[in-house]
Amino acid sequence: MANQLIICEHCDCVYEKVTLARHQKAHCIRCAGVLQRYNGLSVQQRLALTLTAAVLWTFANFYPVMSISLQGLKSSATLWDSVVALSLGPITFIALVAAISIIIAPVFQLLLLTWVLSFALAGKRSPAFRLCMRWLEALRPWSMLEVCLLGAMVAVFKLAGMLDVIPGTGLFALAVLSLLLIRIAGRDVRDLWDTV
Ligand SMILES: [Zn+2]
Repeated sequence: MANQLIICEHCDCVYEKVTLARHQKAHCIRCAGVLQRYNGLSVQQRLALTLTAAVLWTFANFYPVMSISLQGLKSSATLWDSVVALSLGPITFIALVAAISIIIAPVFQLLLLTWVLSFALAGKRSPAFRLCMRWLEALRPWSMLEVCLLGAMVAVFKLAGMLDVIPGTGLFALAVLSLLLIRIAGRDVRDLWDTV
């Protein structure tokens, strides 16, 4: 029954898995960390949300996050523009980190999820299932769209006092995408180990 065990991520305490009902959470009795969370997503729903997220990712990357206008002069920027602008500056390392956390990591998460889930839909393990699942775990801390969203929103509010700022399609796509990613690529992805 080795696959029925669950290890606390925070203190390595071992527990037996429990079946949770709606809105329930399982906590570690030693350190009070969260062990399991109820997740009502079926494979089908998760796949549908993944494909939606892929469309939103395209929108977030190819449509301007915001446009600024001042006395008739207009300028707008996409996520990609902002990474390119950073890479031209003196801190190219930051540009690389930004590119990984807001563009590359999410796209890999979505590709891996689509791959694994489309096989899971047929009740099968995809080729390289183990590798894909490991990468999904490894990528999670690198995917930081919500940080980017927060930054973009702060910029919109701060600039709004000085210039005409119009939040673009990209910003809305980014907002929904970052919420969706938390839902579909969160810790409970590992339930797939049991499902297939
Ligand atoms: Zn613990």
